[in-house]
Amino acid sequence: MKFSRMFIPTTKEAPKDATLASHQFLVRGGFINQTGAGIYNFMPLGKIVLDKIKAIVKEEMDNAGANELLMSFVTPLELWDQSGRSTQMGPELLKFKDRKGAGFVLSPTNEETVVDIVKNRITSYKDLPINLYHINTKFRDEARPRFGLMRGREFLMKDGYSFHSSHEDLVREFNLMEKTYKKIYERLGLEFRIVEADSGAIGGSGSKEFMVLANSGEDTIAVCDSCDYGANVEAAKRKPNKKESLQTKQIEKVHTPNCKTIDEVSSFLNVDPYYSIKAVIKKALYEDSSEVVVFFVRGTDELEETKACNAVEALELLDATPEDLQSANLVGGYCGVIDLPKDIKVVVDSELKDDNNVVCGANEEEYHLTGVDLTSLELTFKDLILVQEGDNCPHCDGKLSYTKGIEAGHIFQLGTKYSSAMNATFLDANGKAQPFIMGCYGIGVSRLVAAVIEQNHDEKGCIWTKSTAPFMVDVIVSNAKKDDELEVGEKIYNELKNNQIEAILDDRKNARFGFKMGDFELIGFPYAVVIGKKLKDGMVEIVNRKTLEKTDVLIDEVVAELIKLIK
Ligand code: ATP
Ligand code: MG
Repeated sequence: MKFSRMFIPTTKEAPKDATLASHQFLVRGGFINQTGAGIYNFMPLGKIVLDKIKAIVKEEMDNAGANELLMSFVTPLELWDQSGRSTQMGPELLKFKDRKGAGFVLSPTNEETVVDIVKNRITSYKDLPINLYHINTKFRDEARPRFGLMRGREFLMKDGYSFHSSHEDLVREFNLMEKTYKKIYERLGLEFRIVEADSGAIGGSGSKEFMVLANSGEDTIAVCDSCDYGANVEAAKRKPNKKESLQTKQIEKVHTPNCKTIDEVSSFLNVDPYYSIKAVIKKALYEDSSEVVVFFVRGTDELEETKACNAVEALELLDATPEDLQSANLVGGYCGVIDLPKDIKVVVDSELKDDNNVVCGANEEEYHLTGVDLTSLELTFKDLILVQEGDNCPHCDGKLSYTKGIEAGHIFQLGTKYSSAMNATFLDANGKAQPFIMGCYGIGVSRLVAAVIEQNHDEKGCIWTKSTAPFMVDVIVSNAKKDDELEVGEKIYNELKNNQIEAILDDRKNARFGFKMGDFELIGFPYAVVIGKKLKDGMVEIVNRKTLEKTDVLIDEVVAELIKLIK
């Protein structure tokens, strides 16, 4: 490909709202441009990168025995009514009507469609398992589209769905997909970590995320310093933080004026904050209702919102306002487990299950209770805590620490959630109808374009990995008006192509050398060959984009040298 023939609209201007390197450089490098909030066009170079990532994903999915198909982007609302997601998904699901008034949605994922495809077409356990996937546009009306391709509203996803007659077979496929994803991210040249995850709105149990490690990542993951345990903090576990139990005591009500926080109460009463519990009051939103919920965690712990939200099966949690507290008859700062208003939902963190002598609010202004025995109360216990750095790994003697990641993929053991809701069954070996047992597997293909750059850039621009680079070598003719330079450039360019090395020839007559170098650095091709001043000595220069190192080589040896570097 020749630069002079290709549409590569590079620019010095980054979008005003672009805080991430990938957002800035992908726009400035002429890979993408924005047409609306969270909606992007892929320019020719961006399309090449996207296609390379798609090809790797497809090859590995096909190798794993999955079938590629293509499901429609627009799907009838009727299918979403069957699964229940037409109301459960909230405003992220974009719905609209056609001219006849029939309802449709722009697919945010395709569980409903794929179940509808398999239903009544696969009828026997003998035809299972099967894994169907496609790589197609998705639309989610995200509340805050931002960071360029990282969190778009319209984006490209690979989504796959598998169908099984037994849970064991689902687990086998899930493990195969994990291996397959590993190969994909390795081939893309990314540093990543597989972590345990929350299953979110898609539902089901058992899910893992593939995190591309980058400081700019939106997800915080807890990783062990001595084994391979890693988990999104939304799902991270720890070995319980246990201090010795205290002696059981009588409950006592004590006057604690102006002691609303754990620190104030513990120092006033001179007790270790570990032996106190704190209330976190939230308003839980459901499909068409809401309620105030009180979560209790240890004084030294923090509530993890996603865990809390799952614990009460809410769609979302909001901080409770003073009005919410008042209407629920709760006393802010003095809320405790005993004598709460009857109809209030309460969830207590599991690590408090055996505590027999703790301090908590008395549900009365300026009073706390001491000596509260949680083992004697009828309470609902769930895992609610935010794992902290320095906590103990749940699997070994190591310590946990935080790192940041970009969620580039997510695999789920779905179970029968969609097949049951949509009445999609097969006949088992005994001739009995059973709902399909399903898995689902997503990869953020367009997000990966950005993730590669988040992990691989410098202050000048992009540094593509070998498998994602739009071209491997940029053959730069310093002054394309000089016939001898252009001739050598064309010769090297053709020779590279004959050796199956993807090359682009910067033959632009109207651009100066400095500008061409600037474009090379901004766009981030792995190597450049510069044909310039040293031509009279029979030499050209190889530039390594990553290190910016320059090496002089003889014209006749440059292709062999590049082959060595690339292989
Ligand atoms: P997130 O937590 O980042 O919102 P998600 O958990 O909602 O993502 P999934 O439903 O698991 O996403 O979708 C599978 C993959 O699609 C994700 O792992 C991610 O790589 C990609 N993806 C999801 N939402 C977006 C988006 N708004 N823009 C780009 N890619 C996305
Ligand atoms: Mg996810």
